[in-house]
Amino acid sequence: MKFLTSISLAFALTMTPAPALAQSNWNQPAEPYHVAGNIYYVGTEGLGAYLFTGSSGHVLLDGTTPEGAAIIEANITKLGFKLGDVKILLNSHAHFDHSGGLAKLKADTGAQLVAMEGDVSALEGGFYLGSEDVKAMSAPPVKVDRIIKDGDKVSLEGIELTANLTAGHSRGCTSWGAKVSEGGKTYDVLVFCSATVAANRITPPLQYEDIVEDYRATFAKTKTMKVDIPLAPHTEFFGLLAKRDQAKADKAVNPFVDPGAFQPFTAKLEADFEKTLRERTAKGQ
Ligand SMILES: [Zn+2]
Repeated sequence: MKFLTSISLAFALTMTPAPALAQSNWNQPAEPYHVAGNIYYVGTEGLGAYLFTGSSGHVLLDGTTPEGAAIIEANITKLGFKLGDVKILLNSHAHFDHSGGLAKLKADTGAQLVAMEGDVSALEGGFYLGSEDVKAMSAPPVKVDRIIKDGDKVSLEGIELTANLTAGHSRGCTSWGAKVSEGGKTYDVLVFCSATVAANRITPPLQYEDIVEDYRATFAKTKTMKVDIPLAPHTEFFGLLAKRDQAKADKAVNPFVDPGAFQPFTAKLEADFEKTLRERTAKGQ
């Protein structure tokens, strides 16, 4: 979830939950495209969704918004895949801009929803954990079929994804890792959940217990991760829109292979988090 600075400031100053301000490209249709190996982008212009294809069915990661679900479905079909072949649904985190479309996608595909334990209550309750009464941040409730923990794997023939808990942004924030082969090389892919502060209260009253410890554990973990192809639920992360345009213009190189991008990106998020925490603590917020 991304907020305009003025909204974040207003939120920080008043400590009353501000309604989420959707960005204009969140529900804007986008052309689907091939990322690498068996991975396709099927999201909207602003919100990522990824299809991992296999010989016995596919895995869809993220549902974007309730409105975005129809865009994802059209994109899957446009690529020549069948909705009914989507067997597993995954989520980066239980915020309405990434989980809001899951209920429709689950109904239309018949897929099983697999989710990290920390996000199950929010997914099934249709709320933003710690801001349960904020209607603007709610999502259609969706039943979780399999509850997973850090390090668990999700597989279908030709697909294996590893769930890396990177909590803080949400309690079950999950960065999904996979290996893909392309042009005789194997790459480490990570669909990084997020670790922005966004709407979260990181000083008392905390968004949820242990949120600060969770963010710090996430930053400790990301430092150990090797990522060749960084992807994300927001297209402004890792310059994904520019990479898409570059891929279209030049078929000879794959711009999504960008091994230098992940560490500086997460280092900046860590610095932002610690700065925000210091400022809010100093203000007694
Ligand atoms: Zn979010």
